[in-house]
Amino acid sequence: MAKWMSDHPRSYKYKNFLERRSHSSNMRLFRLFVLVLILSPYVTACAQYSTGQSVEGNPTHFDLSSYPAASDRVMKSVAEWKSVLSGAAFDVLRQQGTEPAFSGALLKEHGTGIFVCAACGNPLFSSLAKFESGTGWPSFWAPIQTGRVIEKTDNSFGEARTEIQCSRCQGHLGHVFDDGPKPTGLRYCINSVVLRFEKR
Ligand SMILES: [Zn+2]
Repeated sequence: MAKWMSDHPRSYKYKNFLERRSHSSNMRLFRLFVLVLILSPYVTACAQYSTGQSVEGNPTHFDLSSYPAASDRVMKSVAEWKSVLSGAAFDVLRQQGTEPAFSGALLKEHGTGIFVCAACGNPLFSSLAKFESGTGWPSFWAPIQTGRVIEKTDNSFGEARTEIQCSRCQGHLGHVFDDGPKPTGLRYCINSVVLRFEKR
């Protein structure tokens, strides 16, 4: 028997108590660590989507590697565009038209996939960023990837709006407004006729 045990039986009990206490405290810490480890992906995801700051890049994480680069420009003459686009698509894409509200085929599209430019196939919006705005046009809270759409100031109809164009073919897609839902607070109001849906 160790000397301190026979000399100080009370101390032994106290030391044993402290050891047990320390052991259970370590177990609590360990359990907490495991819990944090399990929850960390969710915590990170929440952090990404709660601030509106981390949606740059590719917020919905579809693999876009099979698509041409956003900077790979597509140039055609008016006559060429007319020959490859439907009349309705030409009117919106090349003449800044707007399709009638609630008329678009993709307004109620709720499948999982990628909305690409009907003119050049550029991936523009993810189904994961689509929401029901009630406006009558397909609405998204972010483009699928930074650089896939470009913004232009539009002063037509006597009001300053921000026009959205396709980065590859410069086709008119719609406008962006700042009354959208979280995480960005933006509403990309896009004409259905300029989009083609690719299911994933
Ligand atoms: Zn395009």
